[in-house]
Amino acid sequence: MAKIHGLVYIAVGLFVSIFSWKVNYEKFVFFFYAGLVFVFVGVMKLIFGLIKRKMSKTGEVQHITSVQSQHQAHHYKRCHKCGNIMKMHDRFCSRCGAKV
Ligand SMILES: [Zn+2]
Repeated sequence: MAKIHGLVYIAVGLFVSIFSWKVNYEKFVFFFYAGLVFVFVGVMKLIFGLIKRKMSKTGEVQHITSVQSQHQAHHYKRCHKCGNIMKMHDRFCSRCGAKV
């Protein structure tokens, strides 16, 4: 989304500056520079869009690891005597030795 937005800015900026340059540079010099500013803004939007996407990607990885840890929680159980967390297939508590 951000990428398309940036490209639109660049396209409009290029169009405005080239158009004002071709038609009458002396008269439309303000539009020429305004177009250049648009191109600049578009490039900045593209760069920030890429940074944002990179950030969201790391967020996805964090989400996956949290899901994995939630999934792992199913393989653990608590000792009914001392509350120690132990693996599902453990028959005796590693802390207090109670049979589970
Ligand atoms: Zn225990």
